[in-house]
Amino acid sequence: MVSDVINASDLKKIDPVFGQFSFDDHEQIVFCNDKDTGLKAIIGIHNTVLGPALGGTRMWQYNNEWEALNDVLRLSRGMTFKAAITGLNLGGGKAVIIGDAKTQKTPELMKKFGEFVHSLSGKYITAEDVGMETADMDLVREVTPYVTGISESKGGAGNPSPITAYGVFMGMKAAAKYKFGSDVLEDRKIIVQGIGHVGECLVEHLTNEGAKVIISDINQERLEEVSKKYGATIYTGNDIYSEAVDIYAPCALGATINDDTINRIQAKIIAGAANNQLAEEVKHGTILQEKGIVYAPDFLINAGGIINVYAELEGYDKKEIMRKTQNIYNTTLEILSNADTNGVTTNQAALNIAKSRIEARKNENSK
Ligand code: NAD
Repeated sequence: MVSDVINASDLKKIDPVFGQFSFDDHEQIVFCNDKDTGLKAIIGIHNTVLGPALGGTRMWQYNNEWEALNDVLRLSRGMTFKAAITGLNLGGGKAVIIGDAKTQKTPELMKKFGEFVHSLSGKYITAEDVGMETADMDLVREVTPYVTGISESKGGAGNPSPITAYGVFMGMKAAAKYKFGSDVLEDRKIIVQGIGHVGECLVEHLTNEGAKVIISDINQERLEEVSKKYGATIYTGNDIYSEAVDIYAPCALGATINDDTINRIQAKIIAGAANNQLAEEVKHGTILQEKGIVYAPDFLINAGGIINVYAELEGYDKKEIMRKTQNIYNTTLEILSNADTNGVTTNQAALNIAKSRIEARKNENSK
């Protein structure tokens, strides 16, 4: 039974939601619980100045609820700036479902989650993220229109991962142009960490261009499959960060650039798909800058997926999606030189532009 009496000494010093480390003036945070399906989810709506908050749903076996909450706070904030820097009329949101996608995801659970999304009346629009498939979004679509990334046969733009990978490839080429004076990746040594939906497509682009691709994943079966398909080398060492490569592409989970790894990183460029690669944006962004490692901001170069799902809302065709995604090359080059000119980190340069777009819209709206 739940006790009515709360002991002051039981209360943690840090406020549980608005006091969280990753809380950054989020507009709304929704906790979703359903006993019958076992659904435990959190929807984070960071900012809706530019439009409805769009962002994928991640299903992950978090160690505790704090981890899940901080993940959704960080991810939803990232979506705000991703949409803003890409010039889309969307706000930032994200959802996490706590649980193992392999064993706990059921059609009933996905539909119940869809009902919670629906209850927000379009303020939050979902899509897929880690642990989700297009088929899961099709189930959500049965109970709400506020979902993207559904099957092409159901009127959607399909799986966004190949487009995300293409955008990352464009951003990586721009970073190479900036750092090496040439965007040709042939013979460049590139390590791809995480060869899931996006990582595999990135490996395909890179091997097609003749790069020397090394792959790393916690899933041995995937490693063998992808290695066989594209001729990529499976990483067998025990510290990918200290590998002397030209480019490190984080394509698994976030925060891999942290206190523990940052001084071991030998790569000259970091460009990958994972969200929130810098554990602490200012601190780790600055260290990378000091070390002369070019960091292509994640929320800038992994925007292909959101461009793809935005097309479902705006009715773009594939040609327009590819044109907008290809443009990540130009935006990345601009941001990298803007950072240099203004003496700020590349992450900060991208954030500044994204924030000024949001601020301008806010001012327009208040007129
Ligand atoms: P995914 O689940 O298909 O792939 C993730 C891969 O990373 C899996 O193969 C997994 O085994 C591997 N992995 C997990 N932990 C690892 C570790 N410690 N070391 C090495 N490998 C590890 O996910 P995805 O859709 O390919 O997305 C990858 C990343 O890109 C995520 O951070 C996601 O948020 C981000 N992202 C994806 C999209 C998209 O369109 N799918 C868009 C933007 C950003």
